[in-house]
Amino acid sequence: MEDLMSKIISLAKRRGFVFPSSEIYGGFGSCYDYGPLGVEMKNNIKRSWWKEMTQLQENIVGLDAAILMNPKVWQASGHLTAGFADELVECKKCHHRFRKDFLEKDKCPDCGGQLTESRKFNLMMKTFIGALEDEAAVTYLRAETCQGIYVNFLNVLNSSRSKIPFGIAQVGKAFRNEITPGNFIYRTREFEQMEMQWFCHPKEADKFFEYWKETRMKWYLNLGIKKENLRFREVAKEELAHYAKRAVDIEYKFPFGWKEIEGIHNRGDWDLSNHSKNSGQKLEYLDEETKEKYYPYIIETSAGADRSFLTFLINAYQEVKGGRTKTTKAVKESEILLEIHKDLAPVKAAVLPLVKNKPELVKRAKEVYELLKTNFVCQYDEVDSIGRRYRRQDEIGTLFAITIDFETLEKKDVTLRDRDTMKQERIKIDDLVGIINQKLNA
Ligand code: ATP
Repeated sequence: MEDLMSKIISLAKRRGFVFPSSEIYGGFGSCYDYGPLGVEMKNNIKRSWWKEMTQLQENIVGLDAAILMNPKVWQASGHLTAGFADELVECKKCHHRFRKDFLEKDKCPDCGGQLTESRKFNLMMKTFIGALEDEAAVTYLRAETCQGIYVNFLNVLNSSRSKIPFGIAQVGKAFRNEITPGNFIYRTREFEQMEMQWFCHPKEADKFFEYWKETRMKWYLNLGIKKENLRFREVAKEELAHYAKRAVDIEYKFPFGWKEIEGIHNRGDWDLSNHSKNSGQKLEYLDEETKEKYYPYIIETSAGADRSFLTFLINAYQEVKGGRTKTTKAVKESEILLEIHKDLAPVKAAVLPLVKNKPELVKRAKEVYELLKTNFVCQYDEVDSIGRRYRRQDEIGTLFAITIDFETLEKKDVTLRDRDTMKQERIKIDDLVGIINQKLNA
């Protein structure tokens, strides 16, 4: 199974999904860059989440708060104190450091050496703002996006005329000085979160917790993640974060084990009451009808864009033994197919002239490409045999391959090849955009 991860990492690099950061300088501690296909796919993931969590939800609105905030926010939230620290242990022999809660034994997993006593290690990344590097100028890169939502609770409430229950959604970067990052983009120190905070009456919190738990699970299922590789995990009372009343993780069966990809949390009124206490601004809600004034409870759905990316990539990866494209004689042991959901596929269509040495064909193919590119993310490719080009597109999950051949010149039609069924149909150029749109929206 480790083998699968190295295949994914190598495909990601070779085809431009994910590169190690600053690679020409030897990389940089578990930081990664998204390449040309990676950025398309990650944007598609975020767009799908955003549509699901805002456009399709009449009472959820969006927000994009700054990464840098007044450090008092982090003081109040508990992030600067013990609340946001992991237990760190160090091996006395090889000096490798580990998160205590990740260790199965009390010996170093790398060399078997003796471990030190654990000490608290705060995960906040410090930075300085302004010209002076003194304590007065210290602030932090946000460790979670949700604090920007809590401190804007009144702004959003008043400006959007929202009524409880309602939600605020946000996608953005977060930073944690993780002790043991790893497993490619699964755990990094800079990552992106897709979070929604649902504000409700305390009496309705349990009901909405169940609702959001199920709704979020459906998002992964609807985007094609195999059911047998997803599960809920109820977080034990003693494991709960300082603010949480209840937490359920959505876990995926990665090649390195079942691991969290999203957390659903009942945060009670901890955040709003606590920020009220610390800021002196009452972040309460007044129900106009009942005249009841209260701190809403918060149900949070907190997903990682990078972990989702990895999940979708692993879920889509397939090796087809003996190859699937029979158009050339090239004997291949196996071919890679990324069977990624149509909404997430980085490239929707590839335009391929059958041969590149016939100027009329190339000209017509380029016209088709011009026509399609204003509607979908497309690629134009004329290099190598048609079979090889199909394989290149299958490997990156392109949904449709459109071949321009000699018949095209007479009949003004093309061959449309479907990635999954490999069925080929002849389609009039004039109908192409409409038909692809129909398939994408089916
Ligand atoms: P873990 O136990 O794995 O450290 P967590 O419970 O601290 O995660 P949350 O604070 O609930 O994570 O964050 C919500 C989501 O943000 C996670 O489910 C994950 O998708 C994402 N996330 C958190 N930390 C990281 C990280 N270091 N790298 C990538 N994604 C992360």
